[in-house]
Amino acid sequence: MKLKHLKSIAMKIHILNQQTSIANQFLCELRDTSVQTDRLRFRANLERLGELMAYEFSKTLMTKKCEVATPLGTSQAEVPVNDLVMVTVLRAGIPFYQGFLNIFDKAESGFIGAYREEGSAKDLMITLNYSALPNLDNKQLVLIDPMLATGKSLVKAFNQCLKYGHPKAVHIMSVISAPEGISYLKESIDHPGSIWTWAKDSHLNEMAYIVPGLGDAGDLSFGIKE
Ligand code: URA
Repeated sequence: MKLKHLKSIAMKIHILNQQTSIANQFLCELRDTSVQTDRLRFRANLERLGELMAYEFSKTLMTKKCEVATPLGTSQAEVPVNDLVMVTVLRAGIPFYQGFLNIFDKAESGFIGAYREEGSAKDLMITLNYSALPNLDNKQLVLIDPMLATGKSLVKAFNQCLKYGHPKAVHIMSVISAPEGISYLKESIDHPGSIWTWAKDSHLNEMAYIVPGLGDAGDLSFGIKE
């Protein structure tokens, strides 16, 4: 019991649509069946939500002093320390990840290939078939996947990341989360860090899709795969 309590302190959760902003409009468009057929808009909305989440996340980072020469003098500011590695899960994560990279343009990147063997929520199997990451020792790992459904692919991806070093923190970034996935992450990841999502939805259906969710983020971004 004590350990569970400690874990839930370690993984602080941020649910960003609890505050009204323009992001809610992008989220509505992602969910809306009459808008989401436009793949260009769907990917652009994921990218915009990545940019806005990156901005919110940046407010929580350690900072260092920055002094620059302007044409008229010098200016000082506190800027985030650049120790971030952005890792996304292929293929659905790409547009949301691109939004993060647009903001954290000095971050390193990593990629993990994962797919679902079709199955019900209970017996869902996730297979990892690709990973390319930099060393993670003492860096902040930002794990980006737009749909936090069961949480199984994110936990597998995180365990794969640990083969590349020991990050000082892990931050999980999603657009829509199911309560089941959030609980699974909190139980399974014993590491300091945080969970960020634009919306926490109602539940998973029997095929492990988020309800009301938005459907299949990979298919809507890139088309149906064979
Ligand atoms: N992946 C998706 O794309 N959608 C879901 O609802 C769950 C997982």
